[in-house]
Amino acid sequence: MTKLSANADGRNRVAQGYAAVTARIATVCANSGRNPTEITLLAVSKQQTVQRMRAAYDLGQRHFGENYLQEARAKQSQLPADCIWHFIGPVQSNKTREIAEHFAWLHSLDRWRIAQRLAAQRPETLPPLKVCVQINIDAEASKSGLPLSQAPAFCQSLAELPNLQLMGLMCLPRADGDPAATHAAFTRLRALRDKLSLPVLSMGMSADLELAIAAGSTILRIGSALFGPRESPNESG
Ligand SMILES: *Cc1c(COP(=O)(O)O)cnc(C)c1O
Repeated sequence: MTKLSANADGRNRVAQGYAAVTARIATVCANSGRNPTEITLLAVSKQQTVQRMRAAYDLGQRHFGENYLQEARAKQSQLPADCIWHFIGPVQSNKTREIAEHFAWLHSLDRWRIAQRLAAQRPETLPPLKVCVQINIDAEASKSGLPLSQAPAFCQSLAELPNLQLMGLMCLPRADGDPAATHAAFTRLRALRDKLSLPVLSMGMSADLELAIAAGSTILRIGSALFGPRESPNESG
């Protein structure tokens, strides 16, 4: 296949992905009495090409979510300046400065030390970094995120830090959960969010966006359903 037709093919794939995801969102909103305008679609572009991201941009997409810092930084320089960048992967201490300087949102905050560093490193010339606290909603040993029970105190402490704006909570339910278990996990996160009176619930991915919307999600993080399968594993950066 020539490069041009590969690009056209990629654009088609993204256009189809958008149409399918938009239709799924519309259907579940209609069935659960939600307004689609309350829901932000975050396009998770890790391991996706800049060409596919550009196709999404041309369809009106502005919010992009990335998990790996070096990959994200390379893409930021190749896409228009009005993209809104969300960091959604685990954060190491030595990455906080670049996250503070080059992202609008962080969805995966779960350590006080990281919060302190981000607060100190966020440039005063930028609006506060919007953050979601990641909750280990199924108490999985292997997963990042705060235990549910520690979330209220952690969220309260965040208010003491400058340059961060606590927006809400994020979770990644167990990958092997059945729909009932995933529904229960989303419902637990929703209850905690309501208790803390926060606006944002970052939950729902390609496979479970219906359950997430029904449980009150306000930010869907959708990758493969929009862009197609990811290109290659990227464990670095
Ligand atoms: C990769 C990823 C997603 C998107 O997953 P899909 O199944 O491709 O929609 C969402 N959230 C996080 C934290 C991710 O790492």
